[in-house]
Amino acid sequence: FTPTLEPQATWCPGCGDFGVLKALKQAMPEVGRNPDEVLLVTGIGCSGKLNSYFESYGYHSIHGRSLPIARAAKLANPELEVIAAGGDGDGYGIGGNHFMHTARENHDMTYIVFNNEIFGLTKGQTSPTSPKGHKSKTQPHGSAKDPIRPLSLALTSGASYVARTAAVNPNQAKEILVEAMQHDGFAHVDFLTQCPTWNKDARQYVPYIDVNDNDDYDFDPTNKEEAAAMATEAEQSLYEGEVLTGRFYVDADRPSYSEEKQAIGEMPEEPLAERYFDDDYEWERTHDLLLDRHK
Ligand code: SF4
Repeated sequence: FTPTLEPQATWCPGCGDFGVLKALKQAMPEVGRNPDEVLLVTGIGCSGKLNSYFESYGYHSIHGRSLPIARAAKLANPELEVIAAGGDGDGYGIGGNHFMHTARENHDMTYIVFNNEIFGLTKGQTSPTSPKGHKSKTQPHGSAKDPIRPLSLALTSGASYVARTAAVNPNQAKEILVEAMQHDGFAHVDFLTQCPTWNKDARQYVPYIDVNDNDDYDFDPTNKEEAAAMATEAEQSLYEGEVLTGRFYVDADRPSYSEEKQAIGEMPEEPLAERYFDDDYEWERTHDLLLDRHK
């Protein structure tokens, strides 16, 4: 991986999405994976362009469906480093169901949610993380609803790694992405990304506070109750102008979905990807069978 920005990236000037791409590229050498060992699955939205600018296998999927595709790819080829990515509308709205259940089942992957508190690509509609009272074309009198709490949702659903970082904090973002990719299990990274084009009222997420490196925040991220309290505080304070970032929860002991399936004998000894691409016995056999059937 070459940690440089691609010149063809077409996000608007000042977009926080550049920060995600930069942090991801800087994280990859530390994870020690080659581009052909990584799959990046994206949803729909400005964030969906991420895999166009990233040197790995990519799959630009449909709205809210990056997670089931990423899960299938990981199950078929467990050796892959699988990353799923999407926006707050894509991941917490349209794909909210998949978010909850992928966390519950603790699938081994990293999920990056570009959280800019609106739908950007479709020109600024209210999203699940828009603050209460936020005015947009779809909510001209202001959103009447409280925003979703993604960190708490990930935690209570069963994610074994939960973190928040911000595009304005590239060093922390890189460190968190490295940790998330090295984590065995579902790692959720809520990535605050400003959208200067359609969210003029948006905070720029500064100044940010790293809760893992600040004496005012004394909690143990391996203790679920303390992590939940910290996540709740971060979610409340974000809308009051205080940006709390860092790793909120880490459970290194919880087995991943594949490990649990292996333990009860429900994972095939030979992963699907190897079965069909090793030698040619199984593929040839299936291929011949199909041909015979259609003669
Ligand atoms: Fe970024 Fe917003 Fe422009 Fe989309 S519309 S590229 S989120 S600044």
